[in-house]
Amino acid sequence: MGQRKIIREGTPMRKLSLKERRTTFKEVALGYNLEEALREAERCLQCPQPPCVKACPLHIDIPGFIRLLKERRFEEAIEKIKETNEFPAITGRVCPQELLCQEVCVMKRIGDPVFIGRLERFLGDYEIKKGIKVPEKIVENGKSVAIVGSGPAGLFAAARLRKLGYKVTIYEALHRPGGVMVYGIPEFRLPRHVLDAYINYLRKLGVEIKVDYVVGKAVTVAELLKEYDAVLISTGAGTPRFLRIPGEELNGIYSANEFLIRVNLMKAYRFPDYDTPIKVGKRVVVVGGGNTAMDVARISLRLGAEVTIIYRRTEKEMPARREEVENAMEEGVKFQFLTQPIEFIGDEKGWVKKIRCIKMRLGEPDESGRRRPIPIPGSEFEIEADTVVIAIGASVNPIIQATTPGLKADRKGRIIVDENGRTSLDRVYAAGDVTSGEGTVIEALAEALKAVNSIHRDLES
Ligand code: FAD
Ligand code: SF4
Ligand code: SF4
Repeated sequence: MGQRKIIREGTPMRKLSLKERRTTFKEVALGYNLEEALREAERCLQCPQPPCVKACPLHIDIPGFIRLLKERRFEEAIEKIKETNEFPAITGRVCPQELLCQEVCVMKRIGDPVFIGRLERFLGDYEIKKGIKVPEKIVENGKSVAIVGSGPAGLFAAARLRKLGYKVTIYEALHRPGGVMVYGIPEFRLPRHVLDAYINYLRKLGVEIKVDYVVGKAVTVAELLKEYDAVLISTGAGTPRFLRIPGEELNGIYSANEFLIRVNLMKAYRFPDYDTPIKVGKRVVVVGGGNTAMDVARISLRLGAEVTIIYRRTEKEMPARREEVENAMEEGVKFQFLTQPIEFIGDEKGWVKKIRCIKMRLGEPDESGRRRPIPIPGSEFEIEADTVVIAIGASVNPIIQATTPGLKADRKGRIIVDENGRTSLDRVYAAGDVTSGEGTVIEALAEALKAVNSIHRDLES
Protein backbone atom coordinates (compact mmCIF):
# COMPACT_ATOMS: atom_id res chain seq x y z
CA MET A 1 0.00 0.00 0.00
CA GLY A 2 1.39 3.45 -0.94
CA GLN A 3 2.14 5.96 1.79
CA ARG A 4 -0.57 8.49 2.47
CA LYS A 5 0.26 12.04 1.38
CA ILE A 6 -0.37 14.60 4.10
CA ILE A 7 -1.65 17.96 2.91
CA ARG A 8 -0.82 20.52 5.57
CA GLU A 9 -2.42 23.55 3.98
CA GLY A 10 -6.19 23.90 4.08
CA THR A 11 -8.16 24.75 0.94
CA PRO A 12 -8.98 28.47 0.92
CA MET A 13 -12.56 29.64 0.39
CA ARG A 14 -13.13 32.02 -2.49
CA LYS A 15 -14.77 35.34 -1.60
CA LEU A 16 -16.79 37.93 -3.49
CA SER A 17 -14.70 40.87 -4.76
CA LEU A 18 -14.24 43.69 -2.26
CA LYS A 19 -15.98 46.10 -4.61
CA GLU A 20 -19.13 43.99 -4.70
CA ARG A 21 -18.95 43.34 -0.97
CA ARG A 22 -19.04 47.04 -0.21
CA THR A 23 -22.07 47.77 -2.37
CA THR A 24 -24.29 44.67 -2.40
CA PHE A 25 -25.88 42.21 0.05
CA LYS A 26 -24.62 39.21 -1.98
CA GLU A 27 -23.03 36.35 -0.04
CA VAL A 28 -19.36 37.02 0.75
CA ALA A 29 -18.03 33.47 1.23
CA LEU A 30 -18.60 31.63 -2.04
CA GLY A 31 -18.30 28.03 -0.86
CA TYR A 32 -16.24 25.16 -2.27
CA ASN A 33 -16.68 23.76 -5.74
CA LEU A 34 -16.40 19.97 -6.18
CA GLU A 35 -12.67 19.99 -6.82
CA GLU A 36 -11.98 22.11 -3.74
CA ALA A 37 -14.26 19.98 -1.56
CA LEU A 38 -12.55 16.77 -2.69
CA ARG A 39 -9.12 18.24 -2.01
CA GLU A 40 -10.13 19.33 1.47
CA ALA A 41 -11.79 15.97 2.23
CA GLU A 42 -8.52 14.28 1.25
CA ARG A 43 -6.79 16.03 4.18
CA CYS A 44 -8.84 14.23 6.87
CA LEU A 45 -6.78 11.53 8.62
CA GLN A 46 -9.89 9.46 9.51
CA CYS A 47 -8.82 9.34 13.17
CA PRO A 48 -10.12 6.21 14.91
CA GLN A 49 -11.05 8.22 18.05
CA PRO A 50 -11.85 11.55 16.45
CA PRO A 51 -11.70 14.51 18.86
CA CYS A 52 -13.68 16.61 16.35
CA VAL A 53 -16.82 14.50 16.91
CA LYS A 54 -16.64 15.05 20.67
CA ALA A 55 -16.22 18.80 20.21
CA CYS A 56 -19.24 19.15 17.89
CA PRO A 57 -22.29 19.87 20.07
CA LEU A 58 -24.37 17.59 17.78
CA HIS A 59 -21.63 14.91 17.67
CA ILE A 60 -21.84 14.62 13.91
CA ASP A 61 -19.87 11.65 12.55
CA ILE A 62 -17.32 13.93 10.91
CA PRO A 63 -14.80 11.37 9.58
CA GLY A 64 -17.78 9.32 8.41
CA PHE A 65 -19.30 12.06 6.26
CA ILE A 66 -15.88 13.21 5.00
CA ARG A 67 -15.01 9.67 3.89
CA LEU A 68 -18.28 9.36 1.96
CA LEU A 69 -17.70 12.76 0.38
CA LYS A 70 -14.19 11.72 -0.64
CA GLU A 71 -15.68 8.63 -2.28
CA ARG A 72 -18.18 10.89 -4.06
CA ARG A 73 -21.10 9.18 -2.30
CA PHE A 74 -22.77 12.53 -1.75
CA GLU A 75 -26.30 11.35 -0.85
CA GLU A 76 -24.89 9.02 1.78
CA ALA A 77 -22.60 11.75 3.12
CA ILE A 78 -25.65 13.99 3.59
CA GLU A 79 -27.57 11.17 5.28
CA LYS A 80 -24.63 10.73 7.65
CA ILE A 81 -24.71 14.40 8.68
CA LYS A 82 -28.48 14.32 8.99
CA GLU A 83 -28.36 11.54 11.54
CA THR A 84 -28.00 14.43 14.01
CA ASN A 85 -28.01 17.71 12.07
CA GLU A 86 -31.04 18.83 10.04
CA PHE A 87 -29.52 22.08 8.73
CA PRO A 88 -25.94 21.55 7.42
CA ALA A 89 -26.08 24.49 4.99
CA ILE A 90 -26.77 26.77 7.99
CA THR A 91 -24.28 25.36 10.51
CA GLY A 92 -21.62 25.07 7.80
CA ARG A 93 -21.95 28.83 7.36
CA VAL A 94 -22.47 30.29 10.84
CA CYS A 95 -21.17 27.76 13.36
CA PRO A 96 -18.12 28.96 15.33
CA GLN A 97 -16.33 25.90 13.94
CA GLU A 98 -12.89 27.37 14.60
CA LEU A 99 -13.65 27.06 18.34
CA LEU A 100 -15.41 23.68 18.16
CA CYS A 101 -14.70 20.78 15.77
CA GLN A 102 -11.79 22.49 13.99
CA GLU A 103 -10.14 23.69 17.20
CA VAL A 104 -9.34 20.11 18.21
CA CYS A 105 -8.70 18.65 14.74
CA VAL A 106 -5.51 16.56 14.83
CA MET A 107 -4.31 18.19 11.58
CA LYS A 108 -3.93 21.44 13.51
CA ARG A 109 -0.77 20.06 15.11
CA ILE A 110 1.04 20.11 11.76
CA GLY A 111 -0.83 22.69 9.70
CA ASP A 112 -4.37 23.94 9.15
CA PRO A 113 -7.24 21.99 10.70
CA VAL A 114 -9.51 20.22 8.23
CA PHE A 115 -12.06 22.89 7.28
CA ILE A 116 -14.98 20.77 8.44
CA GLY A 117 -17.58 23.54 8.35
CA ARG A 118 -16.84 24.30 4.70
CA LEU A 119 -17.27 20.63 3.78
CA GLU A 120 -20.52 20.51 5.70
CA ARG A 121 -21.71 23.58 3.84
CA PHE A 122 -20.72 22.03 0.50
CA LEU A 123 -22.92 19.01 1.21
CA GLY A 124 -25.77 21.14 2.60
CA ASP A 125 -25.75 23.28 -0.54
CA TYR A 126 -25.60 20.17 -2.73
CA GLU A 127 -28.68 18.79 -0.98
CA ILE A 128 -30.59 22.07 -1.39
CA LYS A 129 -29.70 22.20 -5.09
CA LYS A 130 -30.96 18.64 -5.59
CA GLY A 131 -34.08 19.26 -3.46
CA ILE A 132 -34.22 18.16 0.19
CA LYS A 133 -35.67 14.67 0.42
CA VAL A 134 -38.79 14.17 2.54
CA PRO A 135 -39.35 10.69 4.06
CA GLU A 136 -41.74 8.68 1.87
CA LYS A 137 -44.03 7.92 4.75
CA ILE A 138 -44.22 9.24 8.29
CA VAL A 139 -45.88 6.87 10.74
CA GLU A 140 -48.23 9.09 12.75
CA ASN A 141 -48.16 8.45 16.51
CA GLY A 142 -51.35 10.37 17.29
CA LYS A 143 -49.60 12.89 19.58
CA SER A 144 -49.06 16.59 19.11
CA VAL A 145 -46.53 19.24 20.13
CA ALA A 146 -46.77 23.05 20.04
CA ILE A 147 -43.49 24.88 19.51
CA VAL A 148 -43.29 28.55 20.50
CA GLY A 149 -40.75 30.49 18.43
CA SER A 150 -39.32 29.60 15.00
CA GLY A 151 -35.61 30.30 15.45
CA PRO A 152 -33.06 27.52 14.90
CA ALA A 153 -34.12 25.70 18.10
CA GLY A 154 -37.82 25.68 17.16
CA LEU A 155 -37.31 24.74 13.49
CA PHE A 156 -34.86 21.97 14.32
CA ALA A 157 -37.15 20.48 16.98
CA ALA A 158 -40.09 20.68 14.56
CA ALA A 159 -38.25 18.63 11.91
CA ARG A 160 -37.13 15.93 14.36
CA LEU A 161 -40.51 15.63 16.10
CA ARG A 162 -42.43 15.48 12.84
CA LYS A 163 -40.17 12.69 11.55
CA LEU A 164 -40.92 10.79 14.76
CA GLY A 165 -44.64 10.98 13.93
CA TYR A 166 -45.83 13.94 16.02
CA LYS A 167 -48.28 16.50 14.71
CA VAL A 168 -46.28 19.74 15.06
CA THR A 169 -47.47 23.35 15.09
CA ILE A 170 -45.07 26.31 15.38
CA TYR A 171 -46.32 29.63 16.78
CA GLU A 172 -44.19 32.61 15.66
CA ALA A 173 -44.65 36.22 16.79
CA LEU A 174 -43.13 37.82 13.66
CA HIS A 175 -44.52 37.63 10.13
CA ARG A 176 -41.69 35.38 8.89
CA PRO A 177 -40.27 32.21 10.45
CA GLY A 178 -36.53 31.87 11.14
CA GLY A 179 -35.84 33.91 14.30
CA VAL A 180 -32.41 35.54 14.33
CA MET A 181 -31.55 33.68 11.11
CA VAL A 182 -34.06 35.85 9.26
CA TYR A 183 -34.10 39.11 11.21
CA GLY A 184 -30.55 39.21 12.59
CA ILE A 185 -27.88 37.48 10.52
CA PRO A 186 -27.64 39.40 7.22
CA GLU A 187 -28.04 37.86 3.76
CA PHE A 188 -24.36 38.32 2.92
CA ARG A 189 -23.58 35.71 5.61
CA LEU A 190 -26.67 33.51 5.40
CA PRO A 191 -28.61 33.89 2.13
CA ARG A 192 -32.36 33.66 2.56
CA HIS A 193 -32.72 30.96 -0.09
CA VAL A 194 -30.93 28.59 2.30
CA LEU A 195 -33.36 29.29 5.14
CA ASP A 196 -36.33 29.19 2.74
CA ALA A 197 -35.26 25.75 1.49
CA TYR A 198 -35.34 24.36 5.04
CA ILE A 199 -38.66 26.06 5.85
CA ASN A 200 -40.22 24.61 2.66
CA TYR A 201 -38.85 21.23 3.71
CA LEU A 202 -40.58 21.59 7.11
CA ARG A 203 -43.84 22.48 5.39
CA LYS A 204 -43.50 19.45 3.09
CA LEU A 205 -42.94 17.30 6.17
CA GLY A 206 -46.33 18.55 7.36
CA VAL A 207 -45.27 21.05 10.04
CA GLU A 208 -47.82 23.83 10.45
CA ILE A 209 -46.33 27.33 10.96
CA LYS A 210 -48.61 30.03 12.39
CA VAL A 211 -47.01 33.48 12.00
CA ASP A 212 -48.01 36.81 13.62
CA TYR A 213 -48.99 34.79 16.67
CA VAL A 214 -47.68 35.99 20.04
CA VAL A 215 -47.95 33.28 22.67
CA GLY A 216 -48.65 34.97 25.99
CA LYS A 217 -51.03 37.38 24.26
CA ALA A 218 -53.09 35.53 21.63
CA VAL A 219 -52.94 32.26 23.55
CA THR A 220 -51.26 31.16 26.79
CA VAL A 221 -49.05 28.14 27.44
CA ALA A 222 -51.79 26.76 29.75
CA GLU A 223 -54.25 26.94 26.84
CA LEU A 224 -51.78 25.25 24.49
CA LEU A 225 -51.38 22.43 27.01
CA LYS A 226 -55.10 21.68 26.72
CA GLU A 227 -54.79 21.27 22.97
CA TYR A 228 -51.33 19.63 22.66
CA ASP A 229 -49.56 16.81 24.47
CA ALA A 230 -46.41 18.93 25.00
CA VAL A 231 -45.17 22.49 24.54
CA LEU A 232 -41.61 23.47 23.63
CA ILE A 233 -40.62 27.07 24.35
CA SER A 234 -37.88 28.42 22.08
CA THR A 235 -38.52 32.14 22.15
CA GLY A 236 -34.88 33.27 22.10
CA ALA A 237 -33.27 36.41 23.49
CA GLY A 238 -34.47 39.38 21.49
CA THR A 239 -34.93 42.09 24.14
CA PRO A 240 -32.30 44.77 23.55
CA ARG A 241 -29.90 45.93 26.26
CA PHE A 242 -28.93 49.59 26.50
CA LEU A 243 -25.95 51.47 27.92
CA ARG A 244 -28.14 53.57 30.29
CA ILE A 245 -26.12 56.74 29.77
CA PRO A 246 -27.33 60.34 29.23
CA GLY A 247 -28.66 61.14 25.75
CA GLU A 248 -29.52 57.56 24.79
CA GLU A 249 -33.08 58.66 23.87
CA LEU A 250 -31.83 60.99 21.07
CA ASN A 251 -32.99 60.44 17.48
CA GLY A 252 -30.56 58.44 15.36
CA ILE A 253 -29.73 56.00 18.16
CA TYR A 254 -31.01 52.47 17.57
CA SER A 255 -30.82 49.19 19.41
CA ALA A 256 -29.16 46.54 17.21
CA ASN A 257 -32.44 44.66 17.29
CA GLU A 258 -34.50 47.50 15.83
CA PHE A 259 -31.81 48.27 13.25
CA LEU A 260 -31.48 44.64 12.12
CA ILE A 261 -35.23 44.00 11.97
CA ARG A 262 -35.76 47.12 9.85
CA VAL A 263 -32.96 46.26 7.46
CA ASN A 264 -33.23 42.48 7.23
CA LEU A 265 -36.87 41.68 7.82
CA MET A 266 -38.51 44.78 6.43
CA LYS A 267 -35.92 45.20 3.66
CA ALA A 268 -35.24 48.86 4.48
CA TYR A 269 -32.18 48.67 2.24
CA ARG A 270 -34.56 48.37 -0.71
CA PHE A 271 -36.51 51.54 0.25
CA PRO A 272 -38.61 52.91 -1.49
CA ASP A 273 -39.54 49.51 -3.05
CA TYR A 274 -40.19 48.38 0.52
CA ASP A 275 -41.82 50.88 2.85
CA THR A 276 -39.79 50.78 6.09
CA PRO A 277 -37.11 53.41 5.79
CA ILE A 278 -34.15 53.51 8.11
CA LYS A 279 -32.17 56.68 8.46
CA VAL A 280 -28.50 55.78 8.21
CA GLY A 281 -26.24 58.80 8.32
CA LYS A 282 -22.79 59.35 6.87
CA ARG A 283 -20.99 58.47 10.11
CA VAL A 284 -22.26 55.38 11.84
CA VAL A 285 -20.85 54.29 15.18
CA VAL A 286 -21.59 50.79 16.45
CA VAL A 287 -21.04 50.00 20.12
CA GLY A 288 -20.10 46.37 20.89
CA GLY A 289 -17.73 43.56 19.88
CA GLY A 290 -19.89 40.52 19.10
CA ASN A 291 -21.33 39.02 15.91
CA THR A 292 -24.23 41.47 16.14
CA ALA A 293 -21.91 44.48 16.16
CA MET A 294 -19.99 43.11 13.14
CA ASP A 295 -23.23 42.50 11.23
CA VAL A 296 -24.61 45.97 11.96
CA ALA A 297 -21.30 47.58 10.95
CA ARG A 298 -21.03 45.67 7.68
CA ILE A 299 -24.67 46.41 6.79
CA SER A 300 -24.13 50.13 7.46
CA LEU A 301 -21.08 50.08 5.23
CA ARG A 302 -23.17 48.58 2.42
CA LEU A 303 -25.72 51.36 2.94
CA GLY A 304 -22.96 53.87 2.13
CA ALA A 305 -21.79 54.99 5.59
CA GLU A 306 -18.35 55.41 7.12
CA VAL A 307 -18.41 53.01 10.04
CA THR A 308 -16.54 52.80 13.35
CA ILE A 309 -16.92 50.08 15.94
CA ILE A 310 -16.29 51.12 19.52
CA TYR A 311 -15.34 48.30 21.89
CA ARG A 312 -14.32 48.60 25.53
CA ARG A 313 -11.74 45.79 25.52
CA THR A 314 -9.08 44.93 22.90
CA GLU A 315 -9.34 43.06 19.60
CA LYS A 316 -8.28 39.86 21.35
CA GLU A 317 -11.30 39.81 23.67
CA MET A 318 -13.90 40.46 20.96
CA PRO A 319 -16.51 37.67 21.09
CA ALA A 320 -17.34 37.91 17.36
CA ARG A 321 -16.22 35.14 15.01
CA ARG A 322 -12.65 35.84 13.89
CA GLU A 323 -13.57 35.35 10.23
CA GLU A 324 -16.24 38.05 10.46
CA VAL A 325 -13.90 40.50 12.23
CA GLU A 326 -11.41 40.01 9.40
CA ASN A 327 -14.15 40.49 6.81
CA ALA A 328 -15.27 43.71 8.52
CA MET A 329 -11.70 45.02 8.56
CA GLU A 330 -11.13 44.11 4.89
CA GLU A 331 -14.34 45.89 3.91
CA GLY A 332 -13.22 49.10 5.60
CA VAL A 333 -14.90 49.13 9.03
CA LYS A 334 -12.72 51.07 11.50
CA PHE A 335 -12.21 49.92 15.07
CA GLN A 336 -11.64 51.95 18.20
CA PHE A 337 -10.65 49.60 21.03
CA LEU A 338 -10.45 50.26 24.79
CA THR A 339 -13.17 52.90 24.44
CA GLN A 340 -16.46 53.28 26.30
CA PRO A 341 -19.24 55.82 25.50
CA ILE A 342 -20.33 57.88 28.52
CA GLU A 343 -22.76 60.38 26.97
CA PHE A 344 -24.57 61.08 23.69
CA ILE A 345 -24.75 64.72 22.63
CA GLY A 346 -27.54 65.95 20.32
CA ASP A 347 -28.18 68.92 18.01
CA GLU A 348 -30.97 71.46 18.48
CA LYS A 349 -33.45 69.16 16.66
CA GLY A 350 -32.80 66.25 18.99
CA TRP A 351 -30.60 64.15 16.65
CA VAL A 352 -27.38 62.60 17.91
CA LYS A 353 -24.24 64.38 16.67
CA LYS A 354 -21.42 63.36 19.03
CA ILE A 355 -20.47 60.65 21.48
CA ARG A 356 -18.48 61.46 24.58
CA CYS A 357 -16.18 58.55 25.34
CA ILE A 358 -13.60 57.55 27.90
CA LYS A 359 -10.46 55.48 27.34
CA MET A 360 -10.20 52.15 29.18
CA ARG A 361 -7.41 49.88 30.38
CA LEU A 362 -7.67 46.18 31.18
CA GLY A 363 -7.55 44.95 34.78
CA GLU A 364 -7.88 41.48 36.33
CA PRO A 365 -10.17 38.84 34.73
CA ASP A 366 -13.86 38.99 35.78
CA GLU A 367 -16.26 36.04 36.34
CA SER A 368 -16.45 35.51 32.53
CA GLY A 369 -12.65 34.99 32.49
CA ARG A 370 -12.12 38.10 30.35
CA ARG A 371 -10.06 41.00 31.69
CA ARG A 372 -12.19 43.72 33.25
CA PRO A 373 -12.15 47.13 31.48
CA ILE A 374 -11.36 50.05 33.81
CA PRO A 375 -11.90 53.74 32.87
CA ILE A 376 -8.79 55.96 32.76
CA PRO A 377 -9.64 59.21 34.61
CA GLY A 378 -9.18 62.39 32.55
CA SER A 379 -9.06 60.51 29.20
CA GLU A 380 -12.49 61.68 27.93
CA PHE A 381 -12.81 62.64 24.24
CA GLU A 382 -15.55 63.07 21.62
CA ILE A 383 -16.38 61.26 18.37
CA GLU A 384 -18.73 62.61 15.70
CA ALA A 385 -21.67 60.41 14.73
CA ASP A 386 -25.04 60.86 13.07
CA THR A 387 -26.23 57.29 13.62
CA VAL A 388 -25.42 55.10 16.60
CA VAL A 389 -26.31 51.45 17.02
CA ILE A 390 -26.06 49.84 20.44
CA ALA A 391 -25.04 46.20 20.01
CA ILE A 392 -24.03 45.18 23.52
CA GLY A 393 -26.16 42.07 23.80
CA ALA A 394 -29.76 41.13 24.42
CA SER A 395 -31.86 39.58 27.17
CA VAL A 396 -34.48 36.86 26.92
CA ASN A 397 -37.98 37.62 25.71
CA PRO A 398 -40.00 37.74 28.96
CA ILE A 399 -43.65 37.42 27.90
CA ILE A 400 -44.05 33.66 28.30
CA GLN A 401 -42.40 33.64 31.72
CA ALA A 402 -44.72 36.46 32.85
CA THR A 403 -47.89 34.71 31.65
CA THR A 404 -47.13 31.13 32.70
CA PRO A 405 -47.63 30.55 36.45
CA GLY A 406 -45.25 27.94 37.89
CA LEU A 407 -42.68 28.25 35.07
CA LYS A 408 -39.37 28.82 36.85
CA ALA A 409 -36.89 31.37 35.49
CA ASP A 410 -33.67 32.76 36.94
CA ARG A 411 -33.10 36.41 37.90
CA LYS A 412 -32.22 37.25 34.29
CA GLY A 413 -35.53 35.76 33.12
CA ARG A 414 -33.93 32.68 31.52
CA ILE A 415 -36.20 29.64 31.73
CA ILE A 416 -34.66 27.06 34.03
CA VAL A 417 -34.33 23.58 32.49
CA ASP A 418 -32.67 20.35 33.61
CA GLU A 419 -29.92 18.82 31.47
CA ASN A 420 -32.58 17.28 29.24
CA GLY A 421 -34.59 20.42 28.46
CA ARG A 422 -37.41 19.83 30.96
CA THR A 423 -38.81 22.93 32.71
CA SER A 424 -40.45 23.15 36.14
CA LEU A 425 -43.84 22.42 34.52
CA ASP A 426 -45.04 19.01 33.44
CA ARG A 427 -45.13 18.57 29.62
CA VAL A 428 -43.36 21.93 29.07
CA TYR A 429 -39.81 21.98 27.64
CA ALA A 430 -37.46 24.78 26.61
CA ALA A 431 -34.39 25.14 24.39
CA GLY A 432 -32.11 27.76 22.85
CA ASP A 433 -31.31 31.31 23.90
CA VAL A 434 -34.40 31.48 26.16
CA THR A 435 -32.60 29.11 28.54
CA SER A 436 -28.97 30.13 27.96
CA GLY A 437 -29.28 33.90 27.53
CA GLU A 438 -27.16 34.46 24.48
CA GLY A 439 -25.76 31.45 22.71
CA THR A 440 -25.05 30.25 19.21
CA VAL A 441 -27.07 28.51 16.51
CA ILE A 442 -25.34 25.17 17.13
CA GLU A 443 -26.00 25.40 20.88
CA ALA A 444 -29.66 26.09 20.14
CA LEU A 445 -29.79 23.00 17.89
CA ALA A 446 -28.04 20.79 20.45
CA GLU A 447 -30.46 21.89 23.18
CA ALA A 448 -33.42 21.35 20.86
CA LEU A 449 -32.21 17.80 20.20
CA LYS A 450 -32.11 17.10 23.95
CA ALA A 451 -35.62 18.51 24.41
CA VAL A 452 -36.93 16.42 21.50
CA ASN A 453 -35.45 13.26 23.04
CA SER A 454 -37.08 14.09 26.39
CA ILE A 455 -40.46 14.80 24.79
CA HIS A 456 -40.30 11.51 22.91
CA ARG A 457 -39.30 9.58 26.03
CA ASP A 458 -41.93 11.24 28.25
CA LEU A 459 -44.82 10.96 25.81
CA GLU A 460 -44.04 7.37 24.89
CA SER A 461 -44.13 6.19 28.52
P1 FAD B 1 -34.14 32.97 18.09
O1 FAD B 1 -33.35 32.78 16.88
O2 FAD B 1 -34.04 34.25 18.83
O3 FAD B 1 -35.69 32.75 17.72
C1 FAD B 1 -36.71 32.96 18.64
C2 FAD B 1 -38.02 33.17 17.90
O4 FAD B 1 -39.08 33.19 18.84
C3 FAD B 1 -38.08 34.51 17.17
O5 FAD B 1 -38.48 34.30 15.84
C4 FAD B 1 -39.12 35.32 17.94
O6 FAD B 1 -39.85 36.21 17.12
C5 FAD B 1 -40.01 34.21 18.49
N1 FAD B 1 -40.77 34.59 19.69
C6 FAD B 1 -40.32 35.28 20.77
N2 FAD B 1 -41.31 35.42 21.67
C7 FAD B 1 -42.40 34.81 21.14
C8 FAD B 1 -43.75 34.62 21.60
N3 FAD B 1 -44.14 35.08 22.78
N4 FAD B 1 -44.63 33.95 20.79
C9 FAD B 1 -44.22 33.46 19.58
N5 FAD B 1 -42.96 33.62 19.10
C10 FAD B 1 -42.06 34.27 19.88
N6 FAD B 1 -24.84 32.45 16.27
C11 FAD B 1 -23.97 31.69 15.59
O7 FAD B 1 -23.84 30.50 15.87
N7 FAD B 1 -23.22 32.21 14.57
C12 FAD B 1 -23.36 33.49 14.15
O8 FAD B 1 -22.67 33.90 13.23
C13 FAD B 1 -24.30 34.31 14.83
N8 FAD B 1 -24.51 35.60 14.43
C14 FAD B 1 -25.47 36.33 15.04
C15 FAD B 1 -25.73 37.61 14.56
C16 FAD B 1 -26.71 38.37 15.14
C17 FAD B 1 -27.01 39.73 14.58
C18 FAD B 1 -27.43 37.88 16.27
C19 FAD B 1 -28.48 38.72 16.94
C20 FAD B 1 -27.17 36.61 16.77
C21 FAD B 1 -26.20 35.82 16.15
N9 FAD B 1 -25.93 34.52 16.59
C22 FAD B 1 -25.04 33.75 15.91
C23 FAD B 1 -26.67 33.93 17.72
C24 FAD B 1 -27.79 33.00 17.24
O9 FAD B 1 -28.46 33.59 16.16
C25 FAD B 1 -28.74 32.65 18.36
O10 FAD B 1 -28.01 32.03 19.39
C26 FAD B 1 -29.85 31.71 17.89
O11 FAD B 1 -30.61 32.30 16.86
C27 FAD B 1 -30.78 31.30 19.04
O12 FAD B 1 -31.81 30.52 18.52
P2 FAD B 1 -33.23 30.40 19.23
O13 FAD B 1 -34.02 29.45 18.40
O14 FAD B 1 -33.06 30.09 20.67
O15 FAD B 1 -33.89 31.85 19.20
FE1 SF4 C 1 -18.34 21.60 13.31
FE2 SF4 C 1 -20.48 23.08 13.84
FE3 SF4 C 1 -20.56 21.31 11.86
FE4 SF4 C 1 -20.49 20.47 14.39
S1 SF4 C 1 -22.14 21.63 13.41
S2 SF4 C 1 -19.31 19.66 12.66
S3 SF4 C 1 -19.19 22.03 15.35
S4 SF4 C 1 -19.27 23.14 11.95
FE1 SF4 D 1 -10.39 14.22 10.36
FE2 SF4 D 1 -9.44 16.19 11.93
FE3 SF4 D 1 -11.55 14.78 12.73
FE4 SF4 D 1 -9.14 13.61 12.61
S1 SF4 D 1 -9.75 15.29 13.99
S2 SF4 D 1 -11.10 12.75 11.92
S3 SF4 D 1 -8.25 14.68 10.87
S4 SF4 D 1 -11.44 16.11 10.92
